[in-house]
Amino acid sequence: MNNNVLELERVSRSYGRGERAVNALCEVDVQVPERSLTAVIGPSGSGKSTFLQCAAGLDRPTSGVVRLGGRVISEMSERSLSRLRRTQVGFVFQSFNLLPALTVQQNVLLPLRLDGRRRDPARARKLLARVGLDGREEARPGELSGGQQQRVAIARALITEPEVVFADEPTGSLDQKTGAEILNLLREAVDQQGATVVLVTHDPAVTERADRVLRLAEGRLVHDTGAGAASANGITRSPAAAAVKGQIR
Ligand code: ADP
Repeated sequence: MNNNVLELERVSRSYGRGERAVNALCEVDVQVPERSLTAVIGPSGSGKSTFLQCAAGLDRPTSGVVRLGGRVISEMSERSLSRLRRTQVGFVFQSFNLLPALTVQQNVLLPLRLDGRRRDPARARKLLARVGLDGREEARPGELSGGQQQRVAIARALITEPEVVFADEPTGSLDQKTGAEILNLLREAVDQQGATVVLVTHDPAVTERADRVLRLAEGRLVHDTGAGAASANGITRSPAAAAVKGQIR
C-alpha cells in the first residue's frame, strides 16, 4: 500500500523563456510518507521556495506531476487548488502571519471559518494547550512573544487536520532556544498527532531532528537521506536523525 501523502514526479519549474529562462527546479522526484518530518535544505537560490510552492499548490510546475493526498494537484483548476489550500494543507511562515486584530483563538479557527466550516472552539483550545498556550486564547498576537506567535501559527496549521503542513523557515526569526521549542512542537505534531511536515530551513538543529533531509542545488535534488529506505516499508527515516531522536526522547 502506498502511504505517501506527497509525491513529486519529474517536477520542473522554469521562469521566463529562451536564453534567459531560469530553471528553478529540474526534474525533482520525491515521495513523502505520512507521519514524517522532511527538511529541505540548500543554498540561497537553489530552489527551496519553488519546491515548497509547487508541492503546496501555491505554484504550478512547468512540467511533471505533484500528487497530494492521492490527487494530482499540478493540473487542478485554480478554484480546486484554492479549496485544497484551505482544507488539505497547513502553512507555517517565518514571520508567523497572524492577523493582529483577531484573538489567538480566532486566528487558530480562521482556516475553518474561511472554509465555511463549523468552528470548533474546543478543538482550538486543545491545540493551543498542546502548544503550551493554555489560558492565552483571548490574547492578541501583539501581546505575545515571537515564539508564542509561532506556537499559535502551528495550532492554526493543524486545525483542519491537513494532509501536509508546509513550513518556510519556521525557526528563522527566533533565537536558538525558542527555535528548538518550536521544532519540538513540530516533531510532536508528527510523532503524537500523526501530522506530516515538510519544511525549508537553514537551521542545522532542524535537520538533525528531521526524519529525512533533501538537499537542493541549482534546482536539482542532489542528496536525499531517505532514498533507498523508502521501498522497504514506505517510511524513510535517516539513521542519524533516528539516533539523535533516541537520545532526546
Ligand atoms: P531558494 O528558496 O532556495 O532561495 P528559489 O526557489 O527562491 O530558491 O529560487 C530558485 C531560482 O529561481 C533562483 O535562481 C531565483 O532567482 C529564481 N526565481 C525564483 N522565483 C522567480 C520568479 N518569480 N521569476 C524569476 N526567477 C525566479
